[in-house]
Amino acid sequence: MSAMLQVEGLTKHFPIRRGVLRRVAGTVQAVNDVSFTVGEGETLAVVGESGCGKSTIGRALLRLLEPTAGRVTLDGTTVTDLAPDAMRAMRRKMQIIFQDPFGSLNPRMTVAETLAEPLLLHELATPGDVQDKVGALLSTCGLQPWHAGRFPHEFSGGQRQRVGIARALATRPRLIVCDEPVSALDVSVQAQIVNLLKDLQAEFGIGYVFISHDLAVVRHMADRVAVVYLGRIVEEARADALFAHPRHPYTRSLIAAAPRPDPTQRNVSAPVEGDLPSALNPPSGCAFHPRCPLAQDRCRTERPALRQVGTSRVACHFAETSEAGDSRPEAAPS
Ligand code: SF4
Ligand code: MG
Repeated sequence: MSAMLQVEGLTKHFPIRRGVLRRVAGTVQAVNDVSFTVGEGETLAVVGESGCGKSTIGRALLRLLEPTAGRVTLDGTTVTDLAPDAMRAMRRKMQIIFQDPFGSLNPRMTVAETLAEPLLLHELATPGDVQDKVGALLSTCGLQPWHAGRFPHEFSGGQRQRVGIARALATRPRLIVCDEPVSALDVSVQAQIVNLLKDLQAEFGIGYVFISHDLAVVRHMADRVAVVYLGRIVEEARADALFAHPRHPYTRSLIAAAPRPDPTQRNVSAPVEGDLPSALNPPSGCAFHPRCPLAQDRCRTERPALRQVGTSRVACHFAETSEAGDSRPEAAPS
């Protein structure tokens, strides 16, 4: 049986134009040959440092940004082949939740108007029953029916994100791209929103592409994790396997850099060493080589393919050898 969502070879390049003639002066290779699947009711987390192309992956797969190449299939329909009219209808099944619901909600529209719009547009409500459906959506997302008359600025950050989720849920989507949905919220509120997303997934079988740089949240939320470096997946694995046995040196530095959830442990978190190189001029060979503690000559010239190693997919020439643990960069006792 094929997965609900299949993404194959997704690529997004942005030409950089300069001068009065707007000549193409270079290309930002934001997303390169990204492939993954998401099953019904499954969460695939996409993690990596900011600027690594995570959000572009989310937007390109929804065609909010037109992909340069690649194929996206949802429930057997090739989304990337759809003409604009068919794509508008397809949008119903593929929604997005943003980091900052303040920026994505119209400040001049009440919550009732914000939620009624997609319901009426996709004929999921009639003018006669739309208010009831808005009320039901609000209570599904942990708000009260009387919140319907309010404007975005009258809510707290967490409540506003609940409105953003209600709007995404209005069209009964199969897939929701969650782009850093809790990064702007207080830690206590983060847990509530993450649990709401999990509850909705259990109830409606929604698939999530969960974009985040916060590994603590990812650990709680994800079934599988794709680690992205400079627009390419460098490791993909089940979440438990990835956290227990990270195979790619970049995954290991990300985990080592994450704050420890256990306060009794000395906090040895440190940012991943070195800066993320520019996607305008990515390094040759393995793009991670300038920052990789295990880099060899071969890494500077030959790009490692993403290949199956055990139950994971890993793009490192030495995924098997480094797995043994003898050269693990974070193996030193803390
Ligand atoms: Fe490091 Fe080489 Fe593996 Fe890249 S291929 S992650 S540079 S060891
Ligand atoms: Mg982003």
